[in-house]
Amino acid sequence: MGMREDKKTRVAVLGAGIIGTTIAYELQKRGKSVVLIDRNEPGRGASFGNMASIAVTEFLPSSRPSILSQIPKWVFDPEGPVSIRPAYLPRMAFWLVRFLKAARPKTMEALSAAGAALCHRALTDLQSMLDGIDNRDALSSEGCISLYGSKAELDNDNDHISTLERYGFDYRILSAKDVKDLEPAITDHIHCGLLFPDNKSVSDPYLLVQKFLAAFLANGGEVLKGEVTGFRKTDDQIRFIQLADGRTVAVDEAVLSAGAYTGRLSKLLGEPIPLETERGYHTQIMKPNISLRHSIIWPARAFMVTPTAGGIRVGGTVEMAGLDAAPDYRRSKITVRHAKEALPELTVEDATEWMGHRPALPDTVPIISPSAKVKNLFYATGHGHLGVTYSATTAQLIADMMTNIPIGMDMTPYRVDRF
Ligand SMILES: Cc1cc2nc3c(=O)[nH]c(=O)nc-3n(C[C@H](O)[C@H](O)[C@H](O)COP(=O)(O)OP(=O)(O)OC[C@H]3O[C@@H](n4cnc5c(N)ncnc54)[C@H](O)[C@@H]3O)c2cc1C
Repeated sequence: MGMREDKKTRVAVLGAGIIGTTIAYELQKRGKSVVLIDRNEPGRGASFGNMASIAVTEFLPSSRPSILSQIPKWVFDPEGPVSIRPAYLPRMAFWLVRFLKAARPKTMEALSAAGAALCHRALTDLQSMLDGIDNRDALSSEGCISLYGSKAELDNDNDHISTLERYGFDYRILSAKDVKDLEPAITDHIHCGLLFPDNKSVSDPYLLVQKFLAAFLANGGEVLKGEVTGFRKTDDQIRFIQLADGRTVAVDEAVLSAGAYTGRLSKLLGEPIPLETERGYHTQIMKPNISLRHSIIWPARAFMVTPTAGGIRVGGTVEMAGLDAAPDYRRSKITVRHAKEALPELTVEDATEWMGHRPALPDTVPIISPSAKVKNLFYATGHGHLGVTYSATTAQLIADMMTNIPIGMDMTPYRVDRF
């Protein structure tokens, strides 16, 4: 495949999850000629089965004290929400050290500010991109309810709540009765709840990718199925993308957005990033015997339930076991057991289980950045638990960078070379 003869800049976006697809759509719209490359069907990675939440209140670093203090207990509890496969532990030592470094109070505040800056605009950016593809009804009208089984659980979430206050995110305190009035399916045995009205959810995260993909194609974008295995560079610029089957794609610019696999590709370019995968599971239940209008999170049990994809989705948990180990679906069954404590009438009929790879950086802040080593390369990765939430904002920011539009926020915290 040779260089195109028209004058448009030819951009290859590598990875067609929600991040790559929204970027490809936005760049095409802004006049670039874009080829979106994925080894699978678009949207089949982490973006397929996530919990569909535009979780604008969940930007706090994963290593914050209230989580960190519980990790040892969680890891040694086979039913706990975090599991680390012992054989994998040595391989993630470098990442773990950085994860712990991110827990220093001053760093924590800076990281929270970086997450909050994205979350402040996430919903507006997504809404306006959805308007652009005429898909306004993709977002729920209701928010998310956070559940607390006891006063101690509420107290333990205090760092989260006070951070939300500090950064001006909306929440309302709910008594147990308020919770029940809003969602009758929730158990009587809770202490209280919080309502996050701006935590909307999307009707189906996989369809979300498909909608942006369809709009991208309708605007003249191109999708190429192929596994990226290498790059040909001259003068510190990528000239060709190499695919596993021997094809090469000539490019003027490239965006690396291959989710949890981005680290493998960036290494080939001499730019390693400390990207791990936090594997997560869902159970999609099409006959749940209950109905919900809000999504639900229970911080102390670290699971979530969302009305999505035509049914109810139960998910969460973090499993550290790398990119290649087979799924362990006991993790999804444990999550469903926890969910039943919140939703006693929940039944699991007509259900499917799924595992996906969250692209996780040790400081929880995504990389939205030009490469520090390759002149015509940009990175959009490491969105962790918030890839859907941050998708539209990431697409706008990357497109602004690549079309030289001034960005009204400090992009230093999202740089690829910050580690
Ligand atoms: C259980 C679970 C629940 C979650 N819940 C939420 C939620 O409620 N809200 C939220 O905002 N986020 C949530 N997330 C996180 C979110 O799903 C991810 O952050 C997001 O999907 C990442 O998108 P991505 O496009 O970077 O990666 P992906 O969707 O994984 O896409 C990466 C793509 O790159 C392709 N690729 C990789 N390597 C190559 C290669 N060498 N050549 C070609 N193609 C390649 C893959 O095939 C894949 O299609 C959740 C994740 C999980 C697992």
